[in-house]
Amino acid sequence: MPATAIDLIHRLVEERREDVVALTQDLVRIPTINPPGDAYVPCAELLGDRLKARGFEVEYVRGHDSPGDTDAYPRTNVIARWESGRPGPCVHFNGHIDVVEVGPGWTTDPFGGEIRDGKVFGRGTCDMKGGIAAAVVAAEALIASGLPLAGAIEISGTVDEETGGYGGVAYLAGRGYFSRPRVDHVIIPEPLNVDRVCLGHRGVWWAEVTTHGRIAHGSMPFLGDSAIRHMTAFLEKLEHELYPRLERKTTAMPVVPAGARQSTLNINSLHGGLGEGHAGFPSAVVAHSCRTVLDRRYLIEESYDEVKGEIVGLLEDLKRHRNDFRYDLKELFHVPPTLTSADQPVVRALAREIERLFGRPAEFICSPGTYDQKHVVRIGNLEDCVAYGPGILDLAHQPDEYVGIDDLVQSTKVMAVAAHHLLTGAVE
Ligand SMILES: [Zn+2]
Repeated sequence: MPATAIDLIHRLVEERREDVVALTQDLVRIPTINPPGDAYVPCAELLGDRLKARGFEVEYVRGHDSPGDTDAYPRTNVIARWESGRPGPCVHFNGHIDVVEVGPGWTTDPFGGEIRDGKVFGRGTCDMKGGIAAAVVAAEALIASGLPLAGAIEISGTVDEETGGYGGVAYLAGRGYFSRPRVDHVIIPEPLNVDRVCLGHRGVWWAEVTTHGRIAHGSMPFLGDSAIRHMTAFLEKLEHELYPRLERKTTAMPVVPAGARQSTLNINSLHGGLGEGHAGFPSAVVAHSCRTVLDRRYLIEESYDEVKGEIVGLLEDLKRHRNDFRYDLKELFHVPPTLTSADQPVVRALAREIERLFGRPAEFICSPGTYDQKHVVRIGNLEDCVAYGPGILDLAHQPDEYVGIDDLVQSTKVMAVAAHHLLTGAVE
């Protein structure tokens, strides 16, 4: 595309520097903490009212009967669509409006949107209201440019990403909002740094393992059977057999940080026995059951059967060799890994502008954890989806979370120009 078009888009974004900051602050000042899913309606309406005033068609869709959805805490999503009037593809920007709880350690008001040293502070500035503001302003600047575009632009503010996205992107994807022919390209402005494109994420498998024993008086444990000792035997197997094996499984996925470029297992929790009595004093009994929750993150090179099979194999081995070993395994959650090809149009459009703007090639990365891309790819059946947005990933969910104002503006430029590439056929 001609340099004059890029220059024009950049100038229009620069003129909106204060606007993108103000929108970030306005979004952060609405405390959309999830769980439980506070203040979703006013936050969705802030976006909807603004985009409606700029010529977007606005729709609100409540994720009825999704986890946590009640009249007190409705799972309200907003989807806004602008039509160019000419046939062409649709570029969709999707951001989650929910934020995690505040937690301790803040030195600024988490919902104040305070500006200091060229940064906006507050819960959600980085993850990911700054990204939503950047996407909104990118779309507005591109439309205001009057440059000839073909197709449509959509912006959605969706709920519950922090708790799995069931009332948000998953709900909408199940109803065609993230599928062709409605949508062709999806950019999720999660905080992954302004010069990186995130192609996907590792898989997740959560399982609960319970060992069983037999209750008896604690002074005569030989009359019972300790579920905690059975669990200990399982944990030892994890320590000595599984962990070394996981460390050797590495991936070609460019996961960041590099420590996550292998299979990992977090023992999420461990509970056993009857616990403490009324006065916080332990009761003298042998534990009849013990439960642990495993959080296994897996690689594109591994299969679900392999991941589950490793755990089942260790448990079955104990059943064969350990007296009275009995267990249950319950799967809690499973999301396969996702990896978009770097040849996809949305990747090339973003990478081209990142390289032009920063004078170095875009870095392609993958996320150690999951985000809403999984629903777009798996339910919406749309592979042309990535995460790209302002903010530093490590600051997400931390106290004194912030987003840099220069980063906000730079990523706004990248998103606006990338959308221009896609809506003019410069990248297809
Ligand atoms: Zn996020």
